[in-house]
Amino acid sequence: MSIETLLRPAVKKLVPYQSARRLGSSGTVLLNANESPFDNNYTFNGQGLNRYSTCQPDALIQAYAHYAGVDASQVLTCRGADEGIELLIRAFCEPGQDTILHCPPTYGMYQISAEAAGVSCREIPLMSSWQVDLPAITKNLGGVKLVFLCSPNNPTGNQLHRQDIVALLEHTRGQALVVVDEAYVDFCPKLSLVDLLARYPHLVILRTLSKAFALAGLRCGFTLANPEVITSLLKVIAPYPVPVPVAAIAEQALSTEGIACMQKQVSVLAKNRDFLSQALSVCEGVTVFEGKGNYLLVKFPNADTLFRQLWDQGITLRKPTIKDCLRISIGSRAECEHVISAIITRLATL
Ligand SMILES: *Cc1c(COP(=O)(O)O)cnc(C)c1O
Repeated sequence: MSIETLLRPAVKKLVPYQSARRLGSSGTVLLNANESPFDNNYTFNGQGLNRYSTCQPDALIQAYAHYAGVDASQVLTCRGADEGIELLIRAFCEPGQDTILHCPPTYGMYQISAEAAGVSCREIPLMSSWQVDLPAITKNLGGVKLVFLCSPNNPTGNQLHRQDIVALLEHTRGQALVVVDEAYVDFCPKLSLVDLLARYPHLVILRTLSKAFALAGLRCGFTLANPEVITSLLKVIAPYPVPVPVAAIAEQALSTEGIACMQKQVSVLAKNRDFLSQALSVCEGVTVFEGKGNYLLVKFPNADTLFRQLWDQGITLRKPTIKDCLRISIGSRAECEHVISAIITRLATL
């Protein structure tokens, strides 16, 4: 008997997420994974590792609840926003029966997590404005348990209109959960929908320490929702999901000083983003889309060639599924200058 015959059919045909680490990189200018250029220092005393961790460390939950402006009963922590996506699907979607809905071009893990769980996935593309197609979504909610929206959206960079999400929440009441992925909201905190949690018990918000908090390697994220949703997710979570050192470091990142440091770095990255945007938008044939996160989506005359040329020069960008576009993460000022001059030189040869 071969392993192949044992494998679930859904997994046999699954294409894993093309993460930055899986795709590999070239050189040292890594602007492909929306990581932070800031490598901040944390301490861990190395003790207490003989004991299992607490499932939901109280100090960490309290700290994030305080940061997000919600009650501790509305917070779940796990291994990144990615695990939040998985837990939601596992808790709310019956394999072979229920459906999730998402709006490409968007983050790829909603679809991959659904497919891996044997849950079907309905695509309602964003409109050309990269806003949600509300009429199409509301017409296609049959069998849908979870609607995944991403705002600011990865890879387009725009925020979704608040009134559209409110309209969708009104429409889906008692029918489906609306999951808003706010992985990048720390770059534009005023745009968070967290205040809507009080009005809509079927709203779920995903957060992470991977982006603005500069802790992609820590694997720590949060799911914000009404306590009944949180309790449901805790039924399907692994018994010890938060390693002791992760909780210790995450608590430091969420201290008053940690948050102040994040906010300072966010404003530096916003300046770098404006600098990059300015420099590229004056180039012939180049369109820079407005970006609210730590990345910009940019349309080039020949994006595939440019991508390869930059790769050969040790600059790694991300090729999203949008034709002629590249996504550029916002690095340090020096990295921005480096990528700008490389692009300008290459554009002359395209
Ligand atoms: C990076 C990213 C995530 C994953 O976050 P982790 O906490 O690192 O798992 C989720 N959603 C979006 C939109 C992202 O860009």
